[in-house]
Amino acid sequence: MADRVDVLVLGGGPAALCITSELNQRGVTVAGVAPDPVDAPWPNTYGIWANELKAVGLDHLLEHRWSDTVSYFGAGGSTAQDHSQVHGIDYGLFDRAALQRYWLGRAEGVSWHQGRAERVQAGSAITTVTCASGETLRARLVIDASGSRTPHIRRPDQGPVAGQAAYGVVGRFSKAPIEAGRFVLMDYRCDHLSAAQRQEPPTFLYAMDLGDGLFFVEETSLAFAPGVPYDVLKQRLQQRLALRGVQITEVIHEEFCLFPMNLPLPDRSQSVLAFGGAASMVHPASGYMVGALLRRGPDLAQALAVALANPALGSEALARRGWQALWPTELVLRHQLYQFGLGRLMGFNEALLRTHFATFFSLPQEEWFGFLTNTLPLPRLMAVMLRLFALSPWELRRGLVLGFPSAQSPMFTQSAG
Ligand SMILES: Cc1cc2nc3c(=O)[nH]c(=O)nc-3n(C[C@H](O)[C@H](O)[C@H](O)COP(=O)(O)OP(=O)(O)OC[C@H]3O[C@@H](n4cnc5c(N)ncnc54)[C@H](O)[C@@H]3O)c2cc1C
Repeated sequence: MADRVDVLVLGGGPAALCITSELNQRGVTVAGVAPDPVDAPWPNTYGIWANELKAVGLDHLLEHRWSDTVSYFGAGGSTAQDHSQVHGIDYGLFDRAALQRYWLGRAEGVSWHQGRAERVQAGSAITTVTCASGETLRARLVIDASGSRTPHIRRPDQGPVAGQAAYGVVGRFSKAPIEAGRFVLMDYRCDHLSAAQRQEPPTFLYAMDLGDGLFFVEETSLAFAPGVPYDVLKQRLQQRLALRGVQITEVIHEEFCLFPMNLPLPDRSQSVLAFGGAASMVHPASGYMVGALLRRGPDLAQALAVALANPALGSEALARRGWQALWPTELVLRHQLYQFGLGRLMGFNEALLRTHFATFFSLPQEEWFGFLTNTLPLPRLMAVMLRLFALSPWELRRGLVLGFPSAQSPMFTQSAG
């Protein structure tokens, strides 16, 4: 490697590949460092609304696509109480290898180092990264894309961080666990739970028909601090399936998922920039992020390419430009609104949560879609939240404004709001 590069990216996940490729496309000298080979398969599967991908011209990167997309916000127990809500837009699962190849193809010429960044020392001009192997790498700017657990990015302590936790199975079943050809975003029916379980943090089923007799079923907790344990999620999934007379006959893959939903935004005065999970880019209301990478990566790369063209700018000045481009005031304010909303939701019991989501998805499609994908400008987002409030029944309104005092909702008070 040359003595120093313009940008060194830490990580080999979606965020690292996205920002590396976008910088490379703009002629920036960029290198990457990650513990695994950069083309090693990613462990997670990534879902996305097809329209989000279409908007960036990449819907060919989907491996699966469903037009029959529904949720259930009734209590269950009878068809009348099922309240299936048809979403009316396509949802898809990425072909992970194709997404990785897409970014790597655009990152041709980038030098990749295999290693784990252990120490990051930012000076005002140059930042030095020392790897576990002892290798030292230097860059005018370091972008930490090593995920939400990175120790190299400072952020304020705002109390316990709520995690989205999920336990899922890709497998074969004694009979179809959901209708053939269908994608279920959220099944909040709770008729398989005991009265005591209904007092616990609510969970929902996320499920899809993968074809050839394969299904993915995942019991998910939207957000809770601490994250709902996997054995609780597994138990609830088994109960849910059992009530519908479904047994798992073959487990092909188990997914254990836990990631932070309301990680505080990083301290944006630091001289190391972040991107992806490390930059708190996970949508606090949905847990999705890949669409945001695809939308925000090019703008960030463009701002950095312009700044890097000025040779007088070092780590401190470059990081400042980067933070401004990644988290402009508009996006910070939107993020705060989402975090406020999530804090309220985490106090809701299962019945209120069902009412909330039924109301939310009764909004016009472009409004709930824009909310979930963070594509509504701030005034529009506020208008949608007000409209949601106006449509909500009184008990929900009370919860949205006041939250629930601990005496009334003891199960849900540990959450960070
Ligand atoms: C199970 C699961 C399912 C998810 N599903 C979806 C979904 O369907 N849709 C969606 O939009 N979002 C989803 N998310 C949320 C989010 O998109 C993912 O967490 C995403 O993987 C975050 O990308 P990232 O590149 O920021 O971090 P990661 O994917 O966590 O990648 C971090 C990278 O940094 C490397 N690294 C770690 N430490 C170091 C170090 N010290 N030095 C150098 N490299 C290091 C790692 O090896 C890895 O390559 C999901 C998250 C999880 C956990």
